[in-house]
Amino acid sequence: MLVPANADLHCHSTVSDGTLAPAALARRAHANGVQIWALTDHDETGGLHEAASAAQALGLHFVPGVEISVSVGDQTVHILGLGIDPSNPLLLGGLAQVRAGRDARAHLMAKALEQHTAISGVYEGVSRYAGNPALISRTHFARYLVEQGVCGTTHEVFGRFLTPGKPGYVEHTWATLQDAVEWIRAAGGQAVIAHPGRYRFTPTEEWALFSSFKEMGGAGVEVVTGSHTASDFRKYASLALAFSLRASRGSDFHSARESRCDLGQLPALPADLSPIWELLH
Ligand code: AMP
Ligand code: MN
Ligand code: MN
Ligand code: MN
Repeated sequence: MLVPANADLHCHSTVSDGTLAPAALARRAHANGVQIWALTDHDETGGLHEAASAAQALGLHFVPGVEISVSVGDQTVHILGLGIDPSNPLLLGGLAQVRAGRDARAHLMAKALEQHTAISGVYEGVSRYAGNPALISRTHFARYLVEQGVCGTTHEVFGRFLTPGKPGYVEHTWATLQDAVEWIRAAGGQAVIAHPGRYRFTPTEEWALFSSFKEMGGAGVEVVTGSHTASDFRKYASLALAFSLRASRGSDFHSARESRCDLGQLPALPADLSPIWELLH
């Protein structure tokens, strides 16, 4: 078949931690030349209806998606569900369960940050940044601390406060890998390991993650993403081939100010890989 030149299957709207509404993202994707586009908010499908209508009006091929937070050992791994049916009850129930943990975590993070900075009322302040209180993320904390003048950039907030070992980081247990893959498959979707280059696994642990993901029925891996280097492209291209996984491509766009990579502006997938979007029609 004809492989579309520009697929972007990973980005975030105001429904999770992006700064553009779903319809505005659709327009930006279209203006940037994207031909197949997925919205993949964290643990939530609430933006998909608006995104689908906006994409349809633009003649842009839309893929309904989600990015599920998963715990593997002591690390957080993100699993994309692409081509999901957003009304599937198993998926909706699973996502609601994952979201339920976020609010409690946000209260603990706020308390910890109040002890390590001069600011107070952190939970209330951060809540203003989250469209949905059940979806408070570290990104909203970062934006609030910049607003309060604690740091100059969100990137600096993550480095000083919000990453493992730093004072505002709170350990949290998300979904299991098995559950996330099952929910996605039950909803008719394809499960894809997001930005594998960002995790801190040993080579043995990483091989085990790919093996169990494949055994569970996982379909693909993001090879070309905004958070990968050129050497990550090569590494994950070869892992995709080794595990017979489909390859995906996505900017992980959140905001024009904060994101390294805009919608649709990524290198092409290496030609020897099978694109995940061949399964998304
Ligand atoms: P959470 O799901 O609340 O743990 O937040 C994760 C989100 O924080 C990711 O989806 C990114 O949008 C953002 N994030 C994580 N690490 C960083 C970082 N080092 N710099 C900027 N944003 C980050
Ligand atoms: Mn995010
Ligand atoms: Mn992610
Ligand atoms: Mn993402």
